[in-house]
Amino acid sequence: MSGWEPVREGRPSVTVDRAEALRYLGYAGQPISDELSGRMEDLFAACERTCNPAFVYRVFPLAPVDGGLALEGSGVVLPGTDIARHLKGARSVAAMAATAGLASERELRRLSATNGLDAMVYGAGASSIAEAASDACNAAIVAEARSAGFYTSWRYSPGYGDLPLDVQPSIVRALDATKRIGVTVTPTNLLVPAKSVTALVGLFDEPREDRRSCAGCSCAPYCNLRKAGTPCYR
Ligand code: SF4
Repeated sequence: MSGWEPVREGRPSVTVDRAEALRYLGYAGQPISDELSGRMEDLFAACERTCNPAFVYRVFPLAPVDGGLALEGSGVVLPGTDIARHLKGARSVAAMAATAGLASERELRRLSATNGLDAMVYGAGASSIAEAASDACNAAIVAEARSAGFYTSWRYSPGYGDLPLDVQPSIVRALDATKRIGVTVTPTNLLVPAKSVTALVGLFDEPREDRRSCAGCSCAPYCNLRKAGTPCYR
C-alpha cells in the first residue's frame, strides 16, 4: 500500500445506534414518555429503511510540501500542525469518504418542511448511520493495511484541530466520491448529503502507542481482525 492503489468501495449493512442517536439529541437520562419513545423508534426504523450507506477509500503516498502534507498525485494538501503531528512518521495515508446516502438527504429535507421534531430525530439517526459507515470503512482500511504489513492511526477528519474544512473538496475529488457514492461539496465546503464524513487514516511501519486495545474502538462491530483474534496493534 505504498503506491497508487485501486479505489475501494463498500455498501455496509449498518443500523442506528440508539444510544448514540439519543446523545446527538442531547439526551442525558431525563424521562421520555412512551409516546415520544415510540415515535423516535419509528423514525430510527424509517432511517434504517431509507438510508443507503456507502463508503469509498484510497491510499496515497505522503510527502511534505510547502504548506503542509501532500497526498501524492491526488491534489490534496493537508495544512496545519495538528494533522502533521497526527501523521508524523506515516508512510502513506488512506483518504476516505462515507455517507448515509442521498435518500437520507431527501428524507431529511422532506421532514424539515413538515415536522421539525421528526427531522431532528431522523437526522440523529442518519448521523449514527453515517458514523457507522465510517467505522465500517475504517475497519476495512485497518484490515487491508495489516495485510500489507502496516499499522494505522485513528481516523482524523477535516474540522478537527486546525485542519480546515476547505480540504474536503480535494478529498472528494481525489476519491471520485461524487460519482462513486453521491457525495458533493457546497461552495462553503460542507458535504451533501449532510450526513457524510471525510477522514484520513495514517499508515505506519510501527504500531501506534495510542492503539493498544480493542476496548472503546468504534470499528469493533465491523472489524474482522478483532473477530479473528489478530488485532491491528500486534
Ligand atoms: S477493533 Fe481492535 S483490531 Fe479492530 S481496528 Fe479496533 S483496535 Fe484494531
